[in-house]
Amino acid sequence: MYNATIVRKIEVTPELIILQVKPDAGVPDFLPGQYVALGLPGESPRPAHFPAEREPQAAGKLIKRAYSIGSSPSERGYFEFYIAIVPDGALTSRLVIPKEGDRVYVAPKVTGTFTLEEVPQEANLILISTGTGIAPFMSMLRTPATWTKQRKISVIHGVRYSKDLAYSDELRQLAARPDFSYLPIVSRADPEWTGERGHVQSLFQKGAVTAQPTNDHVFLCGNPAMVEDMEKLLVGDGFKVHARKTPGNLHLEKYW
Ligand SMILES: Cc1cc2nc3c(=O)[nH]c(=O)nc-3n(C[C@H](O)[C@H](O)[C@H](O)COP(=O)(O)OP(=O)(O)OC[C@H]3O[C@@H](n4cnc5c(N)ncnc54)[C@H](O)[C@@H]3O)c2cc1C
Repeated sequence: MYNATIVRKIEVTPELIILQVKPDAGVPDFLPGQYVALGLPGESPRPAHFPAEREPQAAGKLIKRAYSIGSSPSERGYFEFYIAIVPDGALTSRLVIPKEGDRVYVAPKVTGTFTLEEVPQEANLILISTGTGIAPFMSMLRTPATWTKQRKISVIHGVRYSKDLAYSDELRQLAARPDFSYLPIVSRADPEWTGERGHVQSLFQKGAVTAQPTNDHVFLCGNPAMVEDMEKLLVGDGFKVHARKTPGNLHLEKYW
């Protein structure tokens, strides 16, 4: 069942890891924003100090979960994933153990419609995420075709603690561009944090961020409570949820 190798593992915090995984068959073509399943067999060990898992997993069974790809499709050496460890979760409680060089399963097929494929070149992008939901946006931002001449791009990233702001160095560097802005917001900020405090939703409620259905496409990714709250707010402002058959300017990806 193993068909891929972990080529790099970065521990952002004990609960957040970045994994770069090289499929034996090479990285297939995909679109920024898509996801692929990652897996380990049920007999893979879990840390002894973790709580019992929600459902015991049988040996020999492949435990598979979907992960947004954070790397650009032009990165042919590996897929990058940004993963929150759920201590009583089936797969992520096992994914904390493998190291660089260890083997995992990656599904051969990449899927998902949370992409820029049907977004007009001139539309601005407002990319809103919580936690590991920043991953598909990193793939988009790392892909030159995303940066059309006409558009402005903003990233809003909500996390609990400022140490959870993975990718903030890369995003702050990008923010030197006149067509890009990066707004991190922290809900349980330590006293040293000088940026925005609270939840993503509050930025819109207090008018610190606005979105116009005429010019902007909004992407929401991560915690379902954030996605649902923001969906209500934005639909109230005239946005329309995108679906293949009924195109709109509001794109949703819920992680659970
Ligand atoms: C399209 C899609 C893309 C996804 N991409 C990512 C990704 O890029 N990174 C990522 O970390 N997860 C992502 N997920 C969630 C991922 O598929 C798993 O659900 C998650 O890793 C938990 O798996 P598990 O087997 O450890 O937990 P399970 O035993 O399956 O328990 C699931 C529970 O874990 C919690 N949970 C799930 N995801 C998260 C999360 N991201 N942060 C905090 N708590 C969570 C929820 O309470 C959920 O009910 C994605 C899900 C979908 C549907």
